[in-house]
Amino acid sequence: MEKPLLILDLDETLIRGQEMPLPEPHDMLLGPYFIYFRPHARSFLAAMGEPFRLGFWSSATLSYVGPICRQLMKGLPEPLFVWGRERCTERFDHFKRETYYAKDLRHIEKNGISLSRVLIVDDELRKVNRHYGNALIIRPFLGDVSDDELSKLESFLHSICRLEDLRRVEKGNWASHQPG
Ligand SMILES: [Mg+2]
Repeated sequence: MEKPLLILDLDETLIRGQEMPLPEPHDMLLGPYFIYFRPHARSFLAAMGEPFRLGFWSSATLSYVGPICRQLMKGLPEPLFVWGRERCTERFDHFKRETYYAKDLRHIEKNGISLSRVLIVDDELRKVNRHYGNALIIRPFLGDVSDDELSKLESFLHSICRLEDLRRVEKGNWASHQPG
């Protein structure tokens, strides 16, 4: 059986990028943005590359997404793909009265990957809500240095990565999952 696919969002999921610097040292500079990696991001990516194939999918532009993914994955195996806004679907949020970019997993199916073997991690439910069974919603990262979400997510993913149909796993309360 081929390894399942883990698709990761960037902003507020794996990193925080902002024009005003935080008190902590930044991990990289990109144009006007100070980029901060979420605590444990590199060890999470290193560990998850074993049981999963990794893909990055952000609703930002590729000129932002590309350099950040290269830095995050430095010394680690190449991800399966790095996608940006051009693969997102523009939608209108009638409550917030704003446009946003959703991630439609039919793009994944078109590449011959069964959605039973796909998980997508994002801090915004609306971007993935047509694929509720595949989605793991993570608390947004805004720069808190004591943030521990990625180590919790790592142990949860280890506990489910061998299951045949990942859509059948209850994910609503994954953060309260305790290993063992
Ligand atoms: Mg995000």
